[in-house]
Amino acid sequence: MTDSAPKPVKYPTIHMQAGRERRVQHGHPWVYSNEVQMDAAAKAVAPGSPVRLLEASGKPLGIAAFNPHTLIAARLLSPDPAARIDEGFFADRLGRALALRQRLFDRPFYRVVHAEADGLPGLIVDRFDDVVTVQANSVFMDRHIDAVLAAIDSVLAPRALILRNDGTQRALEGLAEETRLVKGVIDGPIRLEENGVTFFANPLDGQKTGWFYDQRDNRAFIASLAKGGRAIDFYSYNGGFGVQCAVAGATSVVAVDRSALALENAARAAAANGVADRFEARRADAFQEMERLDAAGERFEVVIADPPAFVKAKKDLGAGCRAYRKMARLAARITAPGGFLLCGSCSHNVDPPTFAEQVARGLNDAGRTGRILRSAGAGPDHPVHPNLPESAYLKAIVLQLD
Ligand code: SAH
Repeated sequence: MTDSAPKPVKYPTIHMQAGRERRVQHGHPWVYSNEVQMDAAAKAVAPGSPVRLLEASGKPLGIAAFNPHTLIAARLLSPDPAARIDEGFFADRLGRALALRQRLFDRPFYRVVHAEADGLPGLIVDRFDDVVTVQANSVFMDRHIDAVLAAIDSVLAPRALILRNDGTQRALEGLAEETRLVKGVIDGPIRLEENGVTFFANPLDGQKTGWFYDQRDNRAFIASLAKGGRAIDFYSYNGGFGVQCAVAGATSVVAVDRSALALENAARAAAANGVADRFEARRADAFQEMERLDAAGERFEVVIADPPAFVKAKKDLGAGCRAYRKMARLAARITAPGGFLLCGSCSHNVDPPTFAEQVARGLNDAGRTGRILRSAGAGPDHPVHPNLPESAYLKAIVLQLD
């Protein structure tokens, strides 16, 4: 060993219970608290610490992020029992995640890191060219945030770096909310591109920040059907769906949202893409506006309804499902015969078959028939860990109605 060789790290050791190792041996990245030997030493490990995870027999499983107080006690970080969890570790994972996105996309606008699937449990990193936003959704990431930020700075060299710790997942992990400009200056909305169309977003202020890159492919699909028709985009946020429909040749587009800031960004995007004359930003409640338009007999060739999560917690499943069904019913009523309807859901707690059922019931409630053309999830910059298929939260169903 030379003088410069790093000293081996002595992480605390956690043993699994005999007979409980199979899921992890088969590649699942999580260990539940009732599957480890939760002795006094394990309970004393500081939440968010790296540990050496071993089978009951003592055979190493790798290095994991440990929290003795949560249902998911350990999240595997590396199968290498000698792995060091430091800036170099984060930089290596980031580098691999970045290389994938650079292969997927020509332009530097994408989600760089999508948590577990990119080997970085709890970490979300979005890129708007040289502006980068970071979200740490686990105690482990929170504890290592300085090393994470340093790694992002070295791998992506952003002009501005924003820590956006305001997700609902943080509350579940007992973490406080915090939005902090780590580096650079943000003065006003930042510019981004998606499918060749320019948009604007406020990564720091406003009720919602950033951009939802997950709908990229679904936006391209519905936009390809919008030429020559009237389109309406409910829950438009910064105009992602609506402005792409206008650019693709819709004769008119209405973006409906209750947030003035979101509509400002949408209108600004319409202007930047030269379609302001065919674009209207309308501040309204989505359901009320759908009902008003229906009563007025207005019909649209393309109707988009991609709302915020209606089911934020499991206990809201019943009420949330009824809301999705109502949304599908009201949106279907204003879809012209032969027109297209996109219904979206980003609720983790609603699985694809359940969502599809609500949409089908809503159509039936509206007295409409049709056919599903596309049933899709998020784009490839939101990859899914093969053993965590349930982490695929996004659903988008596109139908043609008779
Ligand atoms: N479809 C968007 C994402 C939706 S985010 C996209 O493609 O990017 C949810 C949006 O719904 C937010 O902009 C929020 O302001 C808006 N919203 C929430 N409740 C609403 C309501 N009742 N009526 C209209 N807009 C609403």
